[in-house]
Amino acid sequence: MRAAPARVSARIAGITPSATLAVDAKARELKAAGHPVIGFGAGQPDFPTPAYIVDAAAAAVHDRANHGYTAAGGLPALREAIAVKTRRDSGYAVDASQVLVTNGGKQAVYSAFATLLDPGDEVLVPAPYWTTYPESIRLAGGAPVPVVADETTGYLVTVEQLEAARTERTKVLLFVSPSNPSGAVYPREQVEEIGRWAHEHGLWVITDEIYEHLVYGTARFASIPVAAPELSGRCVVVNGVAKTYAMTGWRVGWMIGPADVIKAAANLQSHATSNVCNVAQAAALAAVTGDLSAVEAMRRAFDRRRLAMTSMLNEIPGVICPLPEGAFYCYPSIKGVLGKELAGQRPGSTTDLAEVILEHADVAVVPGEAFGTPGYFRLSCALGDADLEEGLTRLHKLLSQAK
Ligand code: PMP
Repeated sequence: MRAAPARVSARIAGITPSATLAVDAKARELKAAGHPVIGFGAGQPDFPTPAYIVDAAAAAVHDRANHGYTAAGGLPALREAIAVKTRRDSGYAVDASQVLVTNGGKQAVYSAFATLLDPGDEVLVPAPYWTTYPESIRLAGGAPVPVVADETTGYLVTVEQLEAARTERTKVLLFVSPSNPSGAVYPREQVEEIGRWAHEHGLWVITDEIYEHLVYGTARFASIPVAAPELSGRCVVVNGVAKTYAMTGWRVGWMIGPADVIKAAANLQSHATSNVCNVAQAAALAAVTGDLSAVEAMRRAFDRRRLAMTSMLNEIPGVICPLPEGAFYCYPSIKGVLGKELAGQRPGSTTDLAEVILEHADVAVVPGEAFGTPGYFRLSCALGDADLEEGLTRLHKLLSQAK
C-alpha cells in the first residue's frame, strides 16, 4: 500500500517560521500576565488613518456599485489615480494599464515573483532583508541569493558585491530603498549605477517603494526606473498605501510594470483573490488623490524618534547603530554584547539575547535572524516618545551589566 501523503505539502511546510513569532508570543503572554512590556516590534505607524480617508470608505459602503465583484485588476479610477500619483511622487511616467491593484504591498511582492520566476531562477536580495522576500521567492520556485551589507557601509550594497553574486541563473535583483529593516536610503547616483548595471546584464528589477515618503535629513528618495530609465522594460515597482497613510489594515497595494507582466499578474490574481475589497479601494483612491500632509506629520514624529533612539542606542556599550535615513526602524549591531554573561546566562545569538531582554527588562525587540543577518536587532520608532525613552533606558541598564 502506498504510504499516506504528507498532510502539508513540502512546498508550504518548507516556509521558514518567522523568527519574530517566538518573541512576539512571549511578549503578549507577559503583557497578559501584567508585565509592563514595551514593544519595539511594530511594523506599522502608530497613527490612525486620516479622517478624510475613513469618510470616503464610509460613503463607499453605501454605494450599491461596491457590493458586487469588480474588475480583478482594480477599479479603473484607482488605477488611473495611482499612475498619476506615481508621476507626481517619483517622476515615473506610467499608464493606468501598467497598474495592478493588489491586497497590500505584500501580495504585490508575491505576485511579482510568481509572475517572473521559473524554477531555479536566482534573485539577488540585499540583506538585511524584509522577512517576506525570501519566502515568496521560494514559493515561486526561485532561489534567494542574499548579498549582505553591514553597518560599516550603512547597509548599502555595492555594484561590485552584486556582480560577485550574479550567476547565469540570476534573473531578478530585488531593490529596496528606503529599506526595512535597516532604514538605509541609497543616494541617487548609486541607484542609477545599480540600475545601469542590472540593465547591462539583462536582469529584471523588482523595486519596493513602500517607504518612499519616509526619508530624513538630507536623504532623498530616488526611484530606480527614473534614475536608470533604460530599465523600464524590465522593472516592477511595488508600493501601497499602508505606510504613507497609516493604512496597514486596509490591504491596498499595487504593482506597476510592463503591460505584458501586469496582464499575466492580473490573470493570476483573477484566480487567487479577484478584486481587492471595493470599500478599501475607495479609501485608497481618497488617499492617493489627496495631499501628503498626513505623512508629513508622521514623518516629523519618526524623524524626532529615530534621532533620539539612535543616540540612546549608541550610548549602550557594545552597540553600534548607524543613523537610519528612511523608513521607521533602527538596526543596531549587537555583536559586542553577544557571548557575554548577562542575567546568569550567556546568550550567543540575537534570538537568545532578545528573549533574555524580554524576560529581564520587559522590552521586546526583533532579532536580526528574522532579516537574514544574525547579530542585530530591529527596533521600530512607531511608539510614543515616553515609551521609547523608558524602553531604551531599560535596555541600557540591562545590557550595561553584560560581562
Ligand atoms: N514592503 C516592505 C519593505 C514592508 O516593510 C512591508 C510591510 N511590513 C510591505 C512591503 C507590505 O506592506 P502591506 O502589505 O501592508 O502593504
